[in-house]
Amino acid sequence: MNIKEQVVILVKLQKIETEVCGLKSTLSNVAKKYEMLDAELVEFKQSIDNERSLLDDLKKQYRLYESDVQMNLEQIKKSEANLRSIKTNKEYQLLLKQIDEFKVKNAQIEDEMLEFLDRMDKAESNIAARKNEYSMLEDRIMSDKEIVKQQSEHGNKKLVQLEMDFNDVAGSITQELLKKYEMVKTQKGGLAIVPVNDAVCGGCNMNVTPQMYNELQRCDSLMFCPNCQRMIYWRQQ
Ligand SMILES: [Zn+2]
Repeated sequence: MNIKEQVVILVKLQKIETEVCGLKSTLSNVAKKYEMLDAELVEFKQSIDNERSLLDDLKKQYRLYESDVQMNLEQIKKSEANLRSIKTNKEYQLLLKQIDEFKVKNAQIEDEMLEFLDRMDKAESNIAARKNEYSMLEDRIMSDKEIVKQQSEHGNKKLVQLEMDFNDVAGSITQELLKKYEMVKTQKGGLAIVPVNDAVCGGCNMNVTPQMYNELQRCDSLMFCPNCQRMIYWRQQ
């Protein structure tokens, strides 16, 4: 196999691996997407739970108000019963005043209770609406996840195919050349062989010397960029 043929193989390998790299990054994004969709649902559910606990608090407070009103009513009843056995006018007036105070208190509490009823109503209809939204969101997320799942399955199949392609192509060059390719690839973080266009290296964008550019075009030996040390080959514009 002459150098030119070897270069063609190496370029093929590089092409496959670049595709593998892109695909792997897409697939890892798929996993993230999955997590994000789940998180979206959890967050929404949390907001409903918060709303529910708010409603529970309102209900608790409302019941406290109810028992306060009840207690005040009993006090009023008691005081009214006492009115009959009062001897002096002064005591009578005092008791009437007490009764009035309890009545005022209850009126205030009842106002407060009305407001609470309103808030409870709002919270309840809010929860009902959110639950509705939740089930729609759940449906949407399920179908989004299905799409993501299909993309992922397709991507994984493609990945297996590319790996087989790589082995096929790699099998047609010597172990020594493959090792060299792998070494440069590891050192350069993925890109082992790059074209040189118009005397400019496609890996580092530096110029190669005119002499080197001529040698490259002759393709008598495997050459390396003097700047980035990647394997280089000549590609016509
Ligand atoms: Zn270079």
